[in-house]
Amino acid sequence: MHVDMDAFFASVEQYRNHPELIGQPVCVGHDPKKGNGRGVVRAVSYEARAFGIHSGMPVSRAYRLCPDAIFVSGEFSNYSIASGEFMEILARYADGGRVRRASIDEAYIDVTFGVQDYESPVDMAREIQAAIRQETNLPCSIGIAPNMSVAKVATGTQKPNGITLVGPDPQDIINFLAPMKVQALNGVGAKTAERLNNHGIDVLEQIQNMTIPELWPAMGRGSSWIHKRACGIDDRPLLDNGPRIRKSISKDRTFMVDIKPEAIETVHETISGICERIAEKLKNKSLQFRTVTIKLRYSDYTTIQRSRSIPVCTDDRNLLEKMALNIFDHERKKDKHIRLIGVKVSSLTESSQQASITDYF
Ligand SMILES: [Mg+2]
Repeated sequence: MHVDMDAFFASVEQYRNHPELIGQPVCVGHDPKKGNGRGVVRAVSYEARAFGIHSGMPVSRAYRLCPDAIFVSGEFSNYSIASGEFMEILARYADGGRVRRASIDEAYIDVTFGVQDYESPVDMAREIQAAIRQETNLPCSIGIAPNMSVAKVATGTQKPNGITLVGPDPQDIINFLAPMKVQALNGVGAKTAERLNNHGIDVLEQIQNMTIPELWPAMGRGSSWIHKRACGIDDRPLLDNGPRIRKSISKDRTFMVDIKPEAIETVHETISGICERIAEKLKNKSLQFRTVTIKLRYSDYTTIQRSRSIPVCTDDRNLLEKMALNIFDHERKKDKHIRLIGVKVSSLTESSQQASITDYF
């Protein structure tokens, strides 16, 4: 089974944080303030999707499409708490408790054995969907198939609150995939889709009926892979991803108005603020960093990232701030207006695991 939360961030805002927003067009992203806002929409409720708003769209455009949309800036910790809850429910139903998280709001579980306690796989999916609804108050959709690749495609065909079973008969799987656009396959991104389209390949049925040599001009070394996936073949075992390990913590801020070089103090203050938030998060999660990265976007959208590392781990807020400000002052082009500033810490380790910087003083 592939389980995918429906409009996850927006649903968390509607069903958990702000019940008054249920049924309303909700966008997660910074308030565009009458269309003058900056930044992009991170998630969109189904009510807002009806206006043509989709995630990744600039908030100003979303506002123009639906001036009545409600913009919620959203707190990431709320989403990760909700994610943890739903992953735990999945673990109860998964064979061996194995959950393969694909992202914060979707996961695969193997139910080959578990499903035998039910009349049908759909009954089991209904129970999982109901448990998630009851315990987290959130909607999800479930795809059921003999393998991960087909299950994921299945989930996407009925949302929200969908349950879609495909197979196990191989011919049913072939028929199900045949009319799908090539980008329905997980792993076929915009670039690959475009290349296939340029070779006249739009739907999976075409790939099913081609040989590997025929696919070669469009797909090269990926020919055999895409042929298998188009035919619904995926023999990857479903392994869980082990304990959740964070690789980095980052935070960006897009300014309402580009910051002029003479107002650089504003950026310094923003960096300090971001460092404080990151330091808090590090403490809460008992993590320490070795690397600090500054992300800087100028008014012309050119973006740079510059990192610096120290030899030992720390969670010291002042050191983080000092490093971040230092990188910024060294690397910025002094005559350019600044649109966005971001700070990231990485090379993370758990506080207890390694000698900390304080051990050296
Ligand atoms: Mg989702």
